[in-house]
Amino acid sequence: MSHILTISNLTKKYGSLTAVDNLSFTIEKGNVYGILGPNGSGKSTTLGIVLNVVNKTEGHFHWFDGNTSTHDALKKVGAIIEHPNFYPYMTAVQNLQLVCKIKQVTEERISEKLELVGLLDRKDSKFSSFSLGMKQRLAIASALLNNPEILILDEPTNGLDPQGIHQIREIIKKIASQGTTILLASHLLDEVEKVCSHVVILRKGVSLYSGLVDGMNASHGFLTMQSNDMEALKQALEQNPAFGSFKRQGEYLIAYLKQPMDPSEVNEFLFQKGIVLSHFVKRKESLEEQFLELTKQK
Ligand code: ADP
Ligand code: MG
Repeated sequence: MSHILTISNLTKKYGSLTAVDNLSFTIEKGNVYGILGPNGSGKSTTLGIVLNVVNKTEGHFHWFDGNTSTHDALKKVGAIIEHPNFYPYMTAVQNLQLVCKIKQVTEERISEKLELVGLLDRKDSKFSSFSLGMKQRLAIASALLNNPEILILDEPTNGLDPQGIHQIREIIKKIASQGTTILLASHLLDEVEKVCSHVVILRKGVSLYSGLVDGMNASHGFLTMQSNDMEALKQALEQNPAFGSFKRQGEYLIAYLKQPMDPSEVNEFLFQKGIVLSHFVKRKESLEEQFLELTKQK
């Protein structure tokens, strides 16, 4: 596996506010990474640091093998971190020609990139006539003109209608399938679930989870129980190592499993302790519930 980006113990402070707090993760070639977190969790700050537009306070990051200067490395990076900005009175193709001149890359790839984002048939339309979704797609085409190793997108579907959102996500998947590594910041769990293979979950600048998107769903579920002696029920369950934590919810006790356990085993265990249940349901949290639980303000 070759490394695209390595971040080690990165911290960014704005006065007394710590926007990014001792963050570490590695980006390997060919994967699609999501930085997922609620607004203000430090996603844009993290992207800004690695793109050299925000100064870090502490820690390190390096691009590729670590022997390339950030300045040179960024020539192999495509990024969209703010709203697309093009000349309104110029056409799509004229805007991209200008980007090629500024970035000093060949104009040969303009048609190919417009095709990829579904704008080839609108190449001679003025930018001002484009919908927000089309503007965002043109920005993606623009960021790809240098055939980057990695494409970085900050909240790429913000403000778009459902159809526009769908188009952008399909384009991102297509770009990834062609081998370009992708790093995408989003506050939307379903976006990360649909598009990404890997995720770093941030809350107040702290990484809460880093790994496969599928691995996020590693919870073993929870049991909702009721008995005529709730205290005895809780005490009995506390003696069983399969349970991690407990929560009282109205008349019910909710017990979270930290290892797999069959409901019939739980029932038998309690029965042996002389506890009879009047209510017993086993359920697994949805990914959304797990995410909300993980990121809720504490
Ligand atoms: P996200 O992109 O996840 O919404 P940001 O990285 O934009 O989060 O912001 C993280 C935190 O840093 C927030 O509390 C935000 O208010 C703060 N912040 C961001 N930029 C600045 C700045 N230039 N000056 C002061 N505080 C900032
Ligand atoms: Mg942001």
